[in-house]
Formats: sequence, structure tokens, C-alpha cells
Amino acid sequence: MDCVRFAHFLHDDGVGGFCEWFAKSAGVATEYSTRPREQISEILLAERRYLSAAAIFARLRKARRSVALSTVYRTLGHLLAKGVVAERADAEGEATYIWCSGGHHHHAICQRCGNVEDADCGAIEQFADLLRAHNGFQLEDHAMEFFGTCKSCR
Ligand SMILES: [Zn+2]
Ligand SMILES: [Zn+2]
Ligand SMILES: [Zn+2]
Repeated sequence: MDCVRFAHFLHDDGVGGFCEWFAKSAGVATEYSTRPREQISEILLAERRYLSAAAIFARLRKARRSVALSTVYRTLGHLLAKGVVAERADAEGEATYIWCSGGHHHHAICQRCGNVEDADCGAIEQFADLLRAHNGFQLEDHAMEFFGTCKSCR
């Protein structure tokens, strides 16, 4: 079994690194040796929308990347744990993922095209004051999603 096929067989990051070195020294095109984590990150970075593992898998296949669906799930788990990807359940309850790094922000999701805009939440301070005054509630944290229509769909 040659190195490239061996990498496809194992779907392992560690082996991928070794194979990249091996493929380079053997003069084999290294495109096949790109790690699944980089390929999946690339797809998520390129699209400002939530994608299911199946949708990511379909895009990998279209780009002729040989990555198993189980590797897509495992890689998404890694990226979630690293805090660079956010997860939400879509209308059908399926888990979907978006690249989400940087500081605290919220997602404004277009209900027509699925485009996601990052939204700041400076106004929450006023709402926290209201909660304190009217309900005696001390706001410690919050989670919000906004739904509507994006600029290009309006
Ligand atoms: Zn985000
Ligand atoms: Zn839209
Ligand atoms: Zn906020």
C-alpha cells in the first residue's frame, strides 16, 4: 500500500503529517495529504452559514477530498473543544456548525438564505439594568440568536 492510500485508509492526523513528509520526499502531489482538520476549517471559514456534518462531507467529496464522515464528526468535535466552531440545532433538530472565533458576539441568521452576520450586543447593558430594576435579577450571562432577513435578501 502506498503512502497516499495508507493515509486514506487510516484517516489519522498523525499519519497525515508523516505522509505529507513521505509524499514530498517521494515526489507525490501533497494535496491528498492535507489534514482533514485543515480541509474542514477551510470549508467552514469560506461559508458564513451553519453547515451540517453531512453538508461538510458533501463539499469535501465535491472537492475530491477523501475523508470519512466519522472523521468529519470527530474533527468538528475537536474544533468545538478548541472554541473556534459554534454548534446549533437546525429546524429539524440536526446539529449544524459555523466557524466562530474571536470575542463575544451573537449571530443574526437570515431565514431566507442562511447567511450569518456577527452582531455586537452593547445594548444588553440597558436590558440588564431593566432586569435589575423590575425583577431584582442580576444578569450574569446571556445567549441570543437573531432571526430575520439579510441585506441581499431584503
Ligand atoms: Zn460567531
Ligand atoms: Zn439572506
Ligand atoms: Zn452578548
